[in-house]
Amino acid sequence: MIGMERSVYMDYAATTPVDERVVDAMLPYMSEHYGNPSSLYTLGREGYRALEAARESIAATIGAAPNEFIFTGCGTESDNAAVVCISQVVAERKNRRHVVVSAFEHHAVLRTAEWLAKNDFELTVLKPREDGIIHAEDLAGVVRDDTGLVSVMAANNEIGTIQPLKDLADVAHAKGALFHTDAVQALGKIPFDVNDLGIDAASFSAHKMYGPKGVGGLYLRKNTPFRPLLMGGGQEFKKRSGTQNVAGAVAFAKALELMIETHAEEAERLTRLRDRVADGVTGTIVNTRLNASGSPRLPGYSNLIILGCEGEAMLLQLDNKGIAVSTGSACSSSSLEPSHVLLSIGCPVEEAHGSLRVTLGRFTTDEDVEYFLEVLPPIVERLRSMNPLYDRMYGSGVKA
Ligand code: PLP
Repeated sequence: MIGMERSVYMDYAATTPVDERVVDAMLPYMSEHYGNPSSLYTLGREGYRALEAARESIAATIGAAPNEFIFTGCGTESDNAAVVCISQVVAERKNRRHVVVSAFEHHAVLRTAEWLAKNDFELTVLKPREDGIIHAEDLAGVVRDDTGLVSVMAANNEIGTIQPLKDLADVAHAKGALFHTDAVQALGKIPFDVNDLGIDAASFSAHKMYGPKGVGGLYLRKNTPFRPLLMGGGQEFKKRSGTQNVAGAVAFAKALELMIETHAEEAERLTRLRDRVADGVTGTIVNTRLNASGSPRLPGYSNLIILGCEGEAMLLQLDNKGIAVSTGSACSSSSLEPSHVLLSIGCPVEEAHGSLRVTLGRFTTDEDVEYFLEVLPPIVERLRSMNPLYDRMYGSGVKA
């Protein structure tokens, strides 16, 4: 066959296709029910009702009250709002100006915390251990009497490791600090109940779970100190001004409902496929390993190190075969800097350059995985044969 044989998407951590059922649910709110939810006439009230039904449905799923959940423009906005706006108010009210974030947060948290550090806050960036986990005892070692906010993500977007949120939140609370989690990758994929976990704030994004891009959510427990990042008409309980994206909110709720409906089967299927990817690569190609292999990881997520190959070169060659994977987080994959996540777990720079993130999802089939496992070894062999240092550093090629 001439040209591309297949199209295989294996980058579900970067974004997901919008499920057709989600599109069907949202379309009427872009066409006939287009009213502004703040308008008092019938068309506006239709929008308002849809918005509030979406809010109630999402809030119920995470164990929150409807007025504890606000819609935002994306996960990045939710992270910015949580980190900046909670920290500032806690600093003013309680004179707590110390903030703790983990070193492998998404840049939406990390860069925001660094901004705070340039604006009269003190920042501790806590490294995970090699297993890709932030351990409660390590957090206990850095939380202080003047810590206002601790932010640790629910699951990492590059290596997929699931964090012990309940234990971490307990450590923060024992010192009187608040606890925020970036749950953008976790929501719908693992159990997530704000009361079971004891968290004060959490960030979400619809496009990681078969909803559209540009719709996010922020959970803020009742009485959590907060001031809005966006000021204006006072929408979203005066916490996030801006005319609400009703179609986006409806889509977010529908997407989450579908995630929950199929959660158990999908978790099992994607864990099986994830393990097949990892075992298939490490069992066939020498000098490869799976990052954070012994830790709890999101179903579908594998982060592999393939020594002697540049991640970008593998990505492009796989793309030639119709396969979409990533070398790290999508936002940093356009730079050639090694992933801050891999460096944070102690991965040497030269090894981090050979990383491949393979993330599977709803539309991944067994055949897709087998195709990937068939296509990758010759690519690795070719790239290694072109690397003059490979044999000297790592020994010979691909397992027979
Ligand atoms: N947080 C995490 C863990 C993510 O993976 C992402 C997206 O890559 C974000 C935040 C940002 O979300 P959004 O793309 O909706 O701004």
